[in-house]
Amino acid sequence: MIPTASSITSKLPHIGTNIFTKMSGMATQYDAINLSQGFPDFPLDPILIDHVKHYMTAGYNQYAPMPGVPVLRQTIAEKLKTYSEQSFNPDTEITITAGATEALYASITALIRNGDEVIIFDPAYDLYAPAVTLAGGKPRHLELLLPDFSIDWDELEQSISNKTKAIVINNPNNPAGSVLSKEDLGRLSDVVKLHDLIIFSDEVYEHMIYDGLNHQSILSYPELRARGIAMFSFGKTFHATGWKMGYCVAPNELTVEIRKVHQFVNFSANTPIQYAVSDYLKTPKHY
Ligand code: PMP
Repeated sequence: MIPTASSITSKLPHIGTNIFTKMSGMATQYDAINLSQGFPDFPLDPILIDHVKHYMTAGYNQYAPMPGVPVLRQTIAEKLKTYSEQSFNPDTEITITAGATEALYASITALIRNGDEVIIFDPAYDLYAPAVTLAGGKPRHLELLLPDFSIDWDELEQSISNKTKAIVINNPNNPAGSVLSKEDLGRLSDVVKLHDLIIFSDEVYEHMIYDGLNHQSILSYPELRARGIAMFSFGKTFHATGWKMGYCVAPNELTVEIRKVHQFVNFSANTPIQYAVSDYLKTPKHY
């Protein structure tokens, strides 16, 4: 029997048209400046475009290896070494994905099970809660504290139960723009160690930090690195959001599970762009 709409129970009954689709549609309708979605409207560096042209013309157009092309993973490991002063194994800890979106989705799907609670700080990027719900988990929303959208550490401690499995952080935060300090990451380290939690760390805006502040990645903190997945986006860093190119970094045991999902959601990310980004990433001034 062919199922009809009435025989289907939505897994996401409260999700309608997403806010980006709605706002971008209104911007077009009213000929307004569109500040609703994070896509820049200035041109890409022609050097990066030339790299892509080069690899497409040279025939790098078939499936990439499932975890990502080795040279890009190696280049990322070198960049991470410079920034976090930690070594990462490109074969077992770095996975190239179709944007940070896929990295987040594959990670949450791989590691969250029925009934697991996942703490999300609001306001939050709109992907986290639905991904947790689809995995059978329960989003537990905590409000960031005004006026600077900081974490209420006491409330966080009180909210952790024996069902809590993970915390999602987004640093720098979209939409609030707030950034976590060294002290914040120190407190987070204590919490995750004490309660044996996983950290999903969305760091796609790592290079958009102002006022003399430095990005604090979970990868620089041993306790967080040991139980965390950090997600990054070349779409954001190189303002080429339409390329949907990102990666995640996680310990080997977590990476094994994340790749099991990645290989069936997407298998592998865009080949010529991976090679092009690898070349481009070798020059730090590009980011
Ligand atoms: N996380 C945050 C906080 C974002 O703002 C976005 C994009 N709007 C993403 C993840 C998704 O990144 P990508 O385009 O690389 O999938």
